[in-house]
Amino acid sequence: MTTDLTPYQRRALVLISKHGRGNPIIGKNIAINIGLKDRDTGKEGADMRSVIHALRMKGYPICGTGEGYYYAGSQTELFQYIESLGGRIAKQQEALDALKKSFPNIARVFSDDPMDERPIMMLKNGDPMVWSVKGSEGRRHEVVRMHGFYTCTCESFKYSNKRTCKHTEAVEKEVKTTAEAKAAEAQKTLL
Ligand SMILES: [Zn+2]
Repeated sequence: MTTDLTPYQRRALVLISKHGRGNPIIGKNIAINIGLKDRDTGKEGADMRSVIHALRMKGYPICGTGEGYYYAGSQTELFQYIESLGGRIAKQQEALDALKKSFPNIARVFSDDPMDERPIMMLKNGDPMVWSVKGSEGRRHEVVRMHGFYTCTCESFKYSNKRTCKHTEAVEKEVKTTAEAKAAEAQKTLL
């Protein structure tokens, strides 16, 4: 049955077959015992894992947990291991699918400051007045008002013939609303 195995595979199989679910053997000890190159450090190398993988590919029911590897002693043991491995693979697949959609967030820095969640933040009062405006895709742009004129650091403003953009318009609207609210408040105190 074991004639098609390489010496490493055969040694690993003989060793693992002596270990059942109750006493698994850790990868490091397999590597040391079968004479894989990380003998000095005892470090479990990728080589050892590829030996295990090859054995599984050749039909040997080798199970593995956080505690180590063992040879399935019954159908139930193998079935339970298959179930748990399948669950982990499903989770990994979910992670893989999610990661494929995470390219837009590469090298993006997030803040835990709740102020940053506000679409428009006033940064500086006086002249010039400066706002930080959250654009689509979560990027922030700076809107500056000087002598009554608004400018923005975004691309759209740069190429706008009207010299406006969504961000300057949003700030103008907020400034107007704030001024109206202040005027209404002043009116109230007068009355
Ligand atoms: Zn803009």
